[in-house]
Amino acid sequence: KDAHIQLENAPSEIKQLVQTYEQMLFRLSQSWDQQQQLVSNVSHELRTPLTIVSGYLQSLLRRGDNLTPSQREAIEVATSEANRTIQLLQDLLDLERADSGRMHFYLDLVNLNNLLTEVVEMTKKYSDRLCLLELLEATIMLTVDENRLKQVLINLIDNAIKYSEPDTPITLRLLHEKEQIIIQVCDQGMGIPLQQQVRIFERFYRVDEVRSRTTGGSGLGLSIVKTFVEGMGGTVSIYSKLNQGSIFSIIFPYEIK
Ligand code: ADP
Repeated sequence: KDAHIQLENAPSEIKQLVQTYEQMLFRLSQSWDQQQQLVSNVSHELRTPLTIVSGYLQSLLRRGDNLTPSQREAIEVATSEANRTIQLLQDLLDLERADSGRMHFYLDLVNLNNLLTEVVEMTKKYSDRLCLLELLEATIMLTVDENRLKQVLINLIDNAIKYSEPDTPITLRLLHEKEQIIIQVCDQGMGIPLQQQVRIFERFYRVDEVRSRTTGGSGLGLSIVKTFVEGMGGTVSIYSKLNQGSIFSIIFPYEIK
């Protein structure tokens, strides 16, 4: 209100300047909304046909007893690329929903010991990497969105696998400190330089193209991690040393009863 009163007595040039500024802000927010809408529409439109393509490819593989090894390999590569793109589109849709405040979390009281065990079992299905599980003796019950927390952990474990040598283990750890529950994903890989650590949660940010090119990610994995964890009331932190490894911690407030 004060600013308004001051503006009434301001010279007309200032008033005009303020008006132009307000118009600029309005246009900027309009174009941001349009951009979001475009991302959302394109993602929707592409996801459906790609899901159909992936379904057909999978049924070809299931019924393809007379496929030659090279045909089988070609279909497997096509399936995995289609699935990777479907996941990328899903990530874009989720981030857009979070930005516009339309993301819904299905919160429930979840047994974290069971959830972490399940995640490690899931990892074994698609990777040979040794994944160690360190749980607490006590059962920890926490209010979270089970599916979204699983996706967060899978994103972090996938990164841990991608950015470390095949003969090093990954550790998934549950800790209880003061009034916090901490879930850690640890690797003994290449680590992340300190000056880059603040940026890795940005959308499409990748530490360097060389290290990432061969690993085929999208640069959205950690943005999803941050968005989901914060949406469930937690925070994410990172501790990493170059050429020694990284620890990603997901921290939730936890009241001792
Ligand atoms: P990407 O799809 O490229 O893996 P992310 O958002 O998951 O995208 O990660 C962003 C960048 O952070 C990656 O490109 C990689 O350079 C770096 N990074 C993520 N996790 C790790 C890790 N565990 N060890 C080393 N670097 C990592």
